[in-house]
Amino acid sequence: MCAIVGIYGNEDASKLASAALFAMQHRGHEATGISSGGDDSKKIFTVKNRGYVRDVFDENAFSVLKGNMAIGHNRYSTAGSDSTFDAQPIHAKYKLGEISIVHNGNLVNKNEVRQRLIDEGSIFQTGMDTENLIHLIAKSSANRLRDRIIKSLPKLKGAYNFIIQSRSKLFVMRDAHGIRPLSLGKLRSGGYIVASETCCFDLVDAEFIRDVKPGEMLIFSKDNNEPESIMLDNTKEFRPCAFEYIYFARPDSDINGINVYSARENMGALLAKNDAALLNADMVIPVPDSGVPAALGYAKESGIPFELGIIRNHYVGRTFIEPTQAMRNMKVKMKLSPMRSLIEGKSLVVIDDSVVRGTTSKRIVKMLKDAGAAEVHFRVASPMIQHPCFYGIDTPTKEELINAMMTKDEVQEFIEADSLEYLSIDNLKESLGRDTNYSMVSFDGDYFVV
Ligand code: AMP
Repeated sequence: MCAIVGIYGNEDASKLASAALFAMQHRGHEATGISSGGDDSKKIFTVKNRGYVRDVFDENAFSVLKGNMAIGHNRYSTAGSDSTFDAQPIHAKYKLGEISIVHNGNLVNKNEVRQRLIDEGSIFQTGMDTENLIHLIAKSSANRLRDRIIKSLPKLKGAYNFIIQSRSKLFVMRDAHGIRPLSLGKLRSGGYIVASETCCFDLVDAEFIRDVKPGEMLIFSKDNNEPESIMLDNTKEFRPCAFEYIYFARPDSDINGINVYSARENMGALLAKNDAALLNADMVIPVPDSGVPAALGYAKESGIPFELGIIRNHYVGRTFIEPTQAMRNMKVKMKLSPMRSLIEGKSLVVIDDSVVRGTTSKRIVKMLKDAGAAEVHFRVASPMIQHPCFYGIDTPTKEELINAMMTKDEVQEFIEADSLEYLSIDNLKESLGRDTNYSMVSFDGDYFVV
């Protein structure tokens, strides 16, 4: 998953990058880092560490991070281990000078490429697939960095947004399917921003210009007032990730021209159509925060009152983000509490955005029943997740996916809900608009990257 940002042409580049990373903290909080440069010293400076953006970037960090361009990264481990070594940016010296690189996405041929590079003598410092690109660039014989990048990219398959900083330029690349989101904005205080999500544009006072095109390379340099655009590959179908809309992105982001909040409302409204639970339900309750827009959509469509029947403690991180099952179980309890007086004796429609392992939904149903709910009808504003995603969303192995291992009735029994329904794949398409063929691998198993 992860967040990336690039700032070009602003003297507060590293501060703006950290503000953008702060607004995109939801995309990963395992580690964070910024490289900056572009000042007279012609150096690249890097600060990275485990932890939250607010903890890693202080005055000390900014005193190091000089220059009018910067790249940044929030890490959510999908490939590689969770050690500090695996924090980004990855900063390296090579024949043409220095580069630093950030990456969002997941390369599907990472192991083959890495093995080939190791066979040829490369030494890897991290477990990250991102490092493959550094080695390919370092080994290329082309004379210019841009040509080295252009020659290296076709060797990588999968989902990627890369931002590479040299001592004087910024290079931005989006994979040819455009799987992960990436947007370009203009900073009102001068210069440009490229970021995973538009939700950070307000904070840094940037005006949205457009999304980076699938297969496009943007180059920011002193030679041009505007970023130079080179189409590297326009032969592939645009397949943006549907899961960004369902769960991952912040509701105030617009991805490919669609607002995430309104997409989630549509999902909820479509769930409500012909839903049998409507007959006797007293209220619609979201699982906060990810289920809120869908629950509002469900409530509006059905006319059943929307209530905040579950209260969230905001001082706990995202439950899924903790590596062990024991910690995840504990965290659900720490994070969510039932509104007893509201739900006692009531029939509830409970909306969450997705069911992955089934841990959260089982705990929530139990919590609501223990608090006196008469009926809990669990509704999921996405289709059944039956396949692992290898394109940058952190889904576990098939064996851990409850909907891959059990039928819908078995899941209902397992989570002890009075009824259970999911959004259909067709309704998901309907809620996002049918003019784009979204990547839905978790739901349909269509692994289209070949
Ligand atoms: P689970 O308990 O494994 O079924 O997880 C479901 C919960 O995790 C839902 O409430 C989602 O909001 C959240 N979730 C779904 N997908 C992800 C993901 N890839 N990373 C983190 N959280 C997720």
